[in-house]
Amino acid sequence: MSEFSYVVTRGWIEVVVGSMFSGKTEELIRRLRRAEFARLKIQVFKPIIDKRYNEMAVTSHDLTTIDSLPIEDAEQIFDHLHPDTKVVGIDEGQFFSSNLVQVVQDLAERGLRVIVAGLDTDWQGKPFEPMPTLMAIAENVTKQHAVCVVCGAPACRTQRTAGGDSQVAVGTHDAYEARCRTHFKPMIDAPTMDWKLKREMDLA
Ligand code: ADP
Ligand code: MG
Repeated sequence: MSEFSYVVTRGWIEVVVGSMFSGKTEELIRRLRRAEFARLKIQVFKPIIDKRYNEMAVTSHDLTTIDSLPIEDAEQIFDHLHPDTKVVGIDEGQFFSSNLVQVVQDLAERGLRVIVAGLDTDWQGKPFEPMPTLMAIAENVTKQHAVCVVCGAPACRTQRTAGGDSQVAVGTHDAYEARCRTHFKPMIDAPTMDWKLKREMDLA
């Protein structure tokens, strides 16, 4: 990624995808922090629906955090965009509707570096729009992997372990696990680990 870390003179789009727990948010935050080291003004947006850890910040499962503005619709980025901003970060891109694609294109046309993180597949292993379309139009795509909680192999899927069957259901360890292709089931499956018990053991 080093060539994408330098000062930007033209706009472009970077996409960071992978399963849940694959480090998308960590990677997004890492790139944004590097831009700040380069003294570039950054702005970070996330869908208002994602209130898992913090309403006003993008937070990884490891609790790394960066301030962000929650928005309902991708178009609202233009309402809040500061004229000095050079880098725009967007987390949980899959929770925005398809107009995110045009918004991201417009930002890049204006000369901004845009970094979008999000799930490439949903809990049934199906492409999760608008991320696949963004992957197609981006200058750079990074596919991250988590660790399969069953066997330890690189995990490319998000296993739902609780809840209903809607495509969007926000959760963390309580409802999702990272699994590899072999151990992923496109249906709700019993959790591999008792995360509540694990947390109690960690705290003990
Ligand atoms: P994402 O945004 O892709 O969901 P995050 O960046 O929020 O991922 O979190 C990544 C962190 O999640 C890892 O650094 C690790 O501490 C933690 N983690 C929890 N479960 C797993 C797993 N099964 N595989 C890899 N990392 C995991
Ligand atoms: Mg994330």
